[in-house]
Amino acid sequence: MSRFTLYSIPVVISLILILFPVINPGTINVNADACGEYCECKHQCSEIIANNALVQIPAQPMNTWSNIAFLVVGLMALRRRKGPAARWFAISCTVLCLGSAAFHSFLTVAGQRWDVIGMFFVFNFLAVYAMFVMHESAKNKEHELRWFRIAVLLSAIVSVVMAIFVVDLDSTKVLAIASAFIIGHLILAVLEKTATLKEVLLVLSPFAVAFTFRQLDVNGTLCDPASWFQGHALWHVFAAWGIYEIYKLLDVIRHER
Ligand SMILES: [Zn+2]
Repeated sequence: MSRFTLYSIPVVISLILILFPVINPGTINVNADACGEYCECKHQCSEIIANNALVQIPAQPMNTWSNIAFLVVGLMALRRRKGPAARWFAISCTVLCLGSAAFHSFLTVAGQRWDVIGMFFVFNFLAVYAMFVMHESAKNKEHELRWFRIAVLLSAIVSVVMAIFVVDLDSTKVLAIASAFIIGHLILAVLEKTATLKEVLLVLSPFAVAFTFRQLDVNGTLCDPASWFQGHALWHVFAAWGIYEIYKLLDVIRHER
């Protein structure tokens, strides 16, 4: 399968998912719980819920457009180095970009699921990649690369199944487990002296900023529903930066050390 074909599959599926409600507005089934979860355009929620119709599309403009950051970091990875890892990272980032944009645009249950699939894709991929990079040996490279491809594919399938079929799934717990796995392997890199503690802390710092903005938005501390400045939008940007930094450090460990 060519790189273009592989990359275009999630793009096409995501676009169908995003464009379907636009072509057929009757299919928009606004998720009442999703409106008001984040600060942006909260003041329009009672109107949206009463009429089961969005006041505007995208429903949350800044929270929608800020997802471009995920697309940008995916493309940066492709530009940095060719290979299966860069492709899978870019695909995961694209799914997350489009899924999150679909969710914040339409506030539907389907959009929310797609958003969760995107997050699982990215974090599960980074967990598998971290494991691959830290345990890759000089001999038997072909065999290990095959194992890596199968593991990534399996993690993608598990991500989709979990996000779609597991009712009342606590996505935060899944992401916490994947994050613990990633951080565990970064600590291993420090112990094995393939990365420094300073590098690992720098790589993780965008997440600290991202998480702070996310929480300030959710709990209403930093909230003006009509403003262009949205904490949740900054969560997207800093989280995108963070996942790219993790990917880049793993790439450097694998190819340059
Ligand atoms: Zn979001």
